[in-house]
Amino acid sequence: MALSGLMPGLMMDRPLLVIPLMQYAAAYHGDTKVVTQSLEGPIHRTTYAETYRRIGQLAHALVRLGIKPGDRVATLALNSWRHLELYYAVAGIGAICHTVNPRLSPEQICYILNHAEDCALFFDIPFAPVMAKVKSATSSIRHLIAMTDAAHLPGDGDFLAYEDLLAREPHDYDWPTFDENTAGQLCYTSGTTGMPKGVLYSHRALVLHGWGMMAACGLNVADTSLPVVPMFHVNAWGMPYGAPMVGAAQVYAGRAMDGPSLFALMDSEDVTCAQGVPTIWMGLIAEMRAQGRKPKHLERVLIGGAAAPVSMVEAFELEFGVEVNQGWGMTEMTPLGVVNTLKPKHASLSKAEKIALKAKQGRAVFGVELRIVDASGQLLPRDGASAGHLQVRGPWIAKSYYKETTSALTLDGWFDTGDIATLDGDGYLHITDRAKDIIKSGGEWISSVDLENAVLGHPDIAMAAVIGVPHERWQERPLLICVARGAAKPTVGDINTWLGGKVPKWWLPDAVAYIEGLPIGPTGKIQKNRLREQFKDFKLGA
Ligand code: ADP
Repeated sequence: MALSGLMPGLMMDRPLLVIPLMQYAAAYHGDTKVVTQSLEGPIHRTTYAETYRRIGQLAHALVRLGIKPGDRVATLALNSWRHLELYYAVAGIGAICHTVNPRLSPEQICYILNHAEDCALFFDIPFAPVMAKVKSATSSIRHLIAMTDAAHLPGDGDFLAYEDLLAREPHDYDWPTFDENTAGQLCYTSGTTGMPKGVLYSHRALVLHGWGMMAACGLNVADTSLPVVPMFHVNAWGMPYGAPMVGAAQVYAGRAMDGPSLFALMDSEDVTCAQGVPTIWMGLIAEMRAQGRKPKHLERVLIGGAAAPVSMVEAFELEFGVEVNQGWGMTEMTPLGVVNTLKPKHASLSKAEKIALKAKQGRAVFGVELRIVDASGQLLPRDGASAGHLQVRGPWIAKSYYKETTSALTLDGWFDTGDIATLDGDGYLHITDRAKDIIKSGGEWISSVDLENAVLGHPDIAMAAVIGVPHERWQERPLLICVARGAAKPTVGDINTWLGGKVPKWWLPDAVAYIEGLPIGPTGKIQKNRLREQFKDFKLGA
């Protein structure tokens, strides 16, 4: 409905841009640390004040390389202070920082670089071997810059050294002001189904999302945060924007993401909170068990990207006193959608009830609207039981993909996440499946996520994935694929006895298969499409 007679507000019209975030951090939290386990070897230490000065130098260097507003500048890099500088300097001059996932194959990397028509590529030294392919298979890239100094420069004069570029430049940069809807960051989806698609984040979305993330996870000036989530995928969940906003210190692990390395870094740098996907936390929990303690100052972890198993929440909270908050989101959502915090009324719940609630994904953060609809688009009730297609709406959610002319939204303006979920009366979201992974048995849906979660509580099972296999009578039945923790390999009968009462009886898997390891994709998730391919000829017994 169009209203008439509206009165304009009389507030300043200052755009929401990313550079002011770092200006703020430099001015008010200038001595706060940014620490990296560097790829060259030693621990690297800097501050927000120094980071801002180097961002100015980098901006001059980019302009000298001929980078213009709207140009795409790619990074193929792990988490580090230099990657942080690129985030800000590239977007700050009006260009677009395009983070590319180094875990993709060289062919996929080149496809993405060509699709984005990047004009420069900044890479970390371990990825130098990919540059030969990049040179031969891409056409738009004019500059290849190794993110290191002259002493560690790979190649034979093939690349520029990042530190050499900066050395010649002044610190002060006259940052331009422009429309907050201008693009500042680009990230491609991992393309598990079909070709990867570019999600183009505006400055406005990045700033608002950073605020939303900080409000939701309670990061503050007393925190030292370790985002184990990669800066090469979905902006490390917005931490590089959020932490400077609240003056929290940051620690970057570089390549050292195994349990013992993470534990040591958390211990020595007094990390209070960390963010990552479940596969990362499995390593840390094993190390905490080996040492019989948690890293000294670790208070809380944010787990997202895939469902946090109940056994993982229990391990953190009950064994080690580390608070768990689960989060859910996706590339198209910058990525945050929901975070799991308990309500005051939940204080009276038993430990087990609290853990069960924490294993749900959580409640929407302000700025993200959620709805669940059935196959015909009808709204489903928030009763905690009606499962349907999860759709979202908000100022940091994509409306279309880079270079695609069509809208990515439903006719009434919502984004369909591809997830199947329930919402309960308190607004807790529970992801039961991705639409493509759901198992349809006798006209009912079996939640592969819930079934895996339950199986992971079994002491002999280290990893589990459930896929649907064809069945004459029931259409599909669940096949459980496991990695055993040790020598013991429980039969499907043993597992189902153990699962009794934990899941509905008709969900119990019809068979179990053991393999050495599950295929993990470039963003740390189990690749069920590969399992479906591997087990496509699997026949269930009578
Ligand atoms: P992709 O894996 O397609 O690259 P994202 O990295 O954007 O995409 O992952 C988004 C998807 O990951 C969500 O749609 C959802 O299926 C899954 N996901 C993210 N967080 C959670 C969570 N806490 N619990 C269950 N699933 C999650």
